[in-house]
Amino acid sequence: MKILVINCGSSSLKYQLLNMADESVLAKGLCERIGIDGRLVHERPQGKYEASPNMPDHAAAMSVLLDALLDANHGVIKCKSEIGAIGHRVVHGGETFTASVLINDTVEAAIEAVSDLAPLHNPPNLTGIRACKQHMPNVPQVGVFDTAFHQTMPAKAYLYALDYDMYDKHKIRRYGFHGTSHKYVSQQAAELLGRPLSELKLASCHLGNGASVCAIKNGESVDTSMGLTPLEGLAMGTRSGDIDPAIIPFIMEKEGLTAAQVVDALNKKSGMLGLSGVGSDFRDLSAAVDTGNERAKNALDVFAYRVAGYIGRYAACMNGLDAVIFTAGIGENDSGIRAKVCEYLEWMGVSINADANSKRGKAMSISNTGDKVQVLVIPTNEELMIARDTKKILEA
Ligand code: AMP
Repeated sequence: MKILVINCGSSSLKYQLLNMADESVLAKGLCERIGIDGRLVHERPQGKYEASPNMPDHAAAMSVLLDALLDANHGVIKCKSEIGAIGHRVVHGGETFTASVLINDTVEAAIEAVSDLAPLHNPPNLTGIRACKQHMPNVPQVGVFDTAFHQTMPAKAYLYALDYDMYDKHKIRRYGFHGTSHKYVSQQAAELLGRPLSELKLASCHLGNGASVCAIKNGESVDTSMGLTPLEGLAMGTRSGDIDPAIIPFIMEKEGLTAAQVVDALNKKSGMLGLSGVGSDFRDLSAAVDTGNERAKNALDVFAYRVAGYIGRYAACMNGLDAVIFTAGIGENDSGIRAKVCEYLEWMGVSINADANSKRGKAMSISNTGDKVQVLVIPTNEELMIARDTKKILEA
């Protein structure tokens, strides 16, 4: 079976077509600048194709990607009917979705109903679902939620210490994100360690432009650093992560800003970018540190300190730890950050093998042999996880 994975943003549509017989990627690509001027990057193992087709909306982007998949020169299928199913990344499933689900009208309405919890993400996700329905009405579609994996968190982890009415009336609670990634790397970790996932205590660090740590006990998420929205927790590329909530009205008053403007700044002008003044990309930050830039150094120190802090907190919450997992853009590539984080963890028996830490590209342990708490680097693969879930739901 061939499965098309779709990740729809407000002005972009990422896709991947997988052959589930061997889980190989037949083609992947990105339609971006939807509603602006339209740009397509389409890749197959044989090479890359780029174009600037007209893409006034997501339905048009869907046409563009289907044309690319079917094209005589750079296509990979002969007929749309070769696509057996479509798996969609959906950011917020609220408390409604505890697992992936076959999409029907009721599910669509439920995704819409929780959209106020993720106003930037769920509406484009729904647009993608509707565009697929328009182009391939008979192909089953599955929703895979970023929040679903975390629905196993106990109340003590997901409740904020607010007036309980805030939870009762408005569902204000910790939901957590990156669930598909945390779930995938935890399964990989069990394989790598040669132990059943059902016996492991893991701290999974998804460190990308957005970043979160997840405490995974016996294969289930028991806590995670992102909250009601993806703004809470670690300091990120442009997001502040945890701050004293009283800072918001303080900035509003001092700078004459609205709450929405402050939250926008916390999302887009804070984190590594705000602290360093250099940027949000860790390669640029490391280069700046090499030239003696003190603010860039502080930014990286804040990042590593907070990651280590969450790992320590989750080791305590789970009453132990078998492994730390590093994944995503920074976790998979930045050996300096991994080393900096792990320095804080020496007390729990963590030590890094410098030679292993300098390698890249495959799932591996970077610990010294025999260490009680292993440190693993595992490339994430959210698309594969979405495709696997989609296949599993169709087969059920
Ligand atoms: P992601 O959101 O997972 O795609 O991660 C993107 C981020 O990973 C970028 O903004 C960079 O900060 C970081 N990154 C990517 N490649 C490298 C690299 N080779 N070294 C250090 N950081 C990297």
